[in-house]
Amino acid sequence: MSALPTPDFVVTGATVVSHDARRRQDIAVKDGKVVAVGDALAVDGVRSLDATGLLVLPGLVDVHVHLREPGMTEKEDFASGTRAAAAGGVTTVVDMPNTKPPVATAERFREKLELVRDKAFVDFGLYGMLDHDNAEEIGAMAELGAMGFKLFMGQTTGDNRCPNDAAIFRGLEAAAAADLVVGVHAENDHLLRMFGDRLRASGRKDPRAHLEGRPTFVEVEAVTRIITMATEARTKLHIHHLSTAAGLQRVVDLRAQGHRVTIETLVAHLFLDETAYDTYGNLVKLNPPIRPAADVAALWAGIDRGDVDVIATDHAPHTADEQAETDVWQAYGGFIGVETMLPLLLTAAARGRLTVEDIVRLCCYAPARRWSMSRKGQIAPGFDADFVLVDPAADHVLDAAALHSKHNVTPYAGWPLTGAVVATYLRGRLIFEKGEVIGSPTGRQVSPARDVESRG
Ligand SMILES: [Zn+2]
Repeated sequence: MSALPTPDFVVTGATVVSHDARRRQDIAVKDGKVVAVGDALAVDGVRSLDATGLLVLPGLVDVHVHLREPGMTEKEDFASGTRAAAAGGVTTVVDMPNTKPPVATAERFREKLELVRDKAFVDFGLYGMLDHDNAEEIGAMAELGAMGFKLFMGQTTGDNRCPNDAAIFRGLEAAAAADLVVGVHAENDHLLRMFGDRLRASGRKDPRAHLEGRPTFVEVEAVTRIITMATEARTKLHIHHLSTAAGLQRVVDLRAQGHRVTIETLVAHLFLDETAYDTYGNLVKLNPPIRPAADVAALWAGIDRGDVDVIATDHAPHTADEQAETDVWQAYGGFIGVETMLPLLLTAAARGRLTVEDIVRLCCYAPARRWSMSRKGQIAPGFDADFVLVDPAADHVLDAAALHSKHNVTPYAGWPLTGAVVATYLRGRLIFEKGEVIGSPTGRQVSPARDVESRG
C-alpha cells in the first residue's frame, strides 16, 4: 500500500452518505480534492475536523437555477444567489440562460462568463439557450464550456420566443453534435396562450386560473413531442420540472419503447399542492403550475420507483413587490428555493418519505453524472472536496429573514423542519458555517468533461 500524501485536513467521526450507502468514515482532503475515504485517517500534526454526530453529504448539484444576471439584478445576482446556495449546502449550480439579454450566442455566453465569474460563492455551470434561430451558435457555446442548452417549448420569465419544431430539431441536432444535454421546459406554447386568453376573456384573475390555464395534456403533448424528436436527433435529453402524473407515465411508457431521457422534479412540485393557491396566492405561481395532490403523490411514487432522476429547485427570484402581485396574469412565475431544498428534503427523510441516500442520488450523484461533471457529486478519491455537514435531527422553524437571497419571500416561511445544514465546503474551503457565508467568492466555472460517459 503506497503512502498517502499528507492531507491538509481530515474530517473525522462523521457518517458519510453516498447515493447507495452510509458509513462511519473519515475523509482526507488535500489541495481541494478528496484523497482518501476510510477508517482512522487522522494523522498527527494534521488538522482534524470533528464531525461526530453529523452526516456528510457531497455538495448538492442544483441543475436548475435562475440567478438573474445579466439584466434582472433587482431580483437576484450571482453573488446573492450563490451565497444562498452555499447556505443551502449546494456547491454547484447550473444557471439558466433566460436573462436580459438571453444567452443565445457565443458572444453573449462569453459576456456572461466575464460578468459572473468573480462573483460566485459556489461552482457554476452555464446553460446556453436553444433559440428559434441559433443552431449555428450551439457548437461555439459548447466550446466555451456550456453545460447544456435550455429549450423553452412554453413561454416563461423573459418572454422568450419559443422555437417552432423545425428550429427545435436543428438545435437538437447541433447539441447532439456537441454531445451536450438539452434541458427542456415541456409545455405546448400555443395551447398555453389559447387557454390563457380564454381565462382572461372570462374575467378570471385569481391564482387558480394559472393552474386551469396549463392543463395536464399540455405537458404530456410537449413531453411526447420532444422525446420523439430527441431520439431521432440522438440528443441527450433532460426534461426539467416534470409536474404531472400523466407526464410521468408518458415518460415511463416511452422509456419502455427504448427512448432515453432523464427527468427532474422540483422541490416545489413535491412539497406543495393546489391548496397552496389558497394559502400563498400568486407567490406559488410557477411554470408548470403547482398541481393537485394526486400529481404530487405520483411524483413521490416516481421517486420511490427510481423513475425520477433528479430533484432541482428552479430557484426563480423576484422582488418582494413583484411577489405581492394579486392579478395572476401580471404576477411572475417562480420563487426562491436553492437554500431551502436540502432542509426540506431532510425533513422529508426524517418523516420517512425518502432516504438521505436518495437525496444524494437525486441531488448530487445523478445530476453530476448526467451533465458529465467528472469531479462532482461524490465523496471519493479524486473528486472535488465539496461536501455539506448536516445535522439530521435539528428541529427548527424556517426563518425567511435569515435566508441569503435578495428578496426572501418563500412559501416555506415558518414551516417546521427537521434537519439543518451545519457547514458547507467547496473544494476543501469552508464557505458556510452556522448561518454565515464565509470569505470571498471562490466559485469556478464547471464544464462537462468530454471523457465521461453521461447516463440517460
Ligand atoms: Zn426554470
